[in-house]
Amino acid sequence: MRPLPPVEDLGEGVWSVPVPIPGNPLGYTLVYVLESPRGPVLVDAGWHHEDSWQALTAGLESAGTAVADVRGVVLTHFHPDHSGLAGRVREASGAWIAMHGADAELVRHFARIGADEQRERLIGRTAGAGASAAELEELARTAPPFAVPAPPDRTLADGELVDLPQRKLRAVWTPGHTPGHICLHLEDADRLFTGDHVLPRITPHIGLYAFDDGDDPLGEYLASLSRIAETPDETRILPAHEHRFSGAAERAAEIAAHHEHKLAELAGLLADGDATLWELSARLPWKRGWEAMAVAQRRMAAAETAAHVRTLERRGLAVCADGADGALRWRSADPAGP
Ligand SMILES: [Zn+2]
Ligand SMILES: [Zn+2]
Repeated sequence: MRPLPPVEDLGEGVWSVPVPIPGNPLGYTLVYVLESPRGPVLVDAGWHHEDSWQALTAGLESAGTAVADVRGVVLTHFHPDHSGLAGRVREASGAWIAMHGADAELVRHFARIGADEQRERLIGRTAGAGASAAELEELARTAPPFAVPAPPDRTLADGELVDLPQRKLRAVWTPGHTPGHICLHLEDADRLFTGDHVLPRITPHIGLYAFDDGDDPLGEYLASLSRIAETPDETRILPAHEHRFSGAAERAAEIAAHHEHKLAELAGLLADGDATLWELSARLPWKRGWEAMAVAQRRMAAAETAAHVRTLERRGLAVCADGADGALRWRSADPAGP
């Protein structure tokens, strides 16, 4: 587990409050506290756990404020390490919760279908990816319960200003990691809060979204990276995990190159013949190694492969053929391939 960094005063009315994610190798979410004359606004809220709540409330005290004074919580995206405590902050303060409309729609969708249906769909998708019966059984046994994020009070559109009195905090829509991911630009202090969109060391998970509606999340993500690549080098980048940095363009280019490399690798595998997402994923290199992964990790890896296959499909390099056993099979669309 990473050690928890201290609460930091970053100047110009911006504080960083690390909120732990117990039991998760990511370690913590950086919640940013933006001061305003009418109460602070939080960028993200952290994981829903008592230890996380203690760290958040103590951090707010260190920043000279209190959870009861929070004016609003703006979420970069709906994931639980960002949205988990938002509902509890709202209860304690009457704060509004805001997120992009596309993520708000997903939150409504999760609430509508409920945890059991959500689980069924997860297992159905994993079967369609080509997991074995034993793996599906393990997934059904071990998949954690779904926590539906607190519904937002407000939605934000691209370019919209967040309600932060006497300051300028603008939403920059960067879909990819989730359909409604936003970065937030604090224009009066030239800082860009990048959530999970651009992190200094790791690349965020880009998988097919919770329901496959034919979208191309990796294609969207690469377009969103080009958007962030236009950020001037001197703008401070404040991600939700790891550490602050400058030079958004360089980091965006590195991440884009990583995905292009993976796309090329996958195109090579597809040229070897029909394969399921599971078979393709087993042949790709992963940091942990496919064999060592638990089924939940394999599912995440396969979701990532699925996003890359979708982008290849959009580029005219891959096609899907229905498999006899119910799992979809993919092949190269290159006329030179088999
Ligand atoms: Zn995330
Ligand atoms: Zn995150």
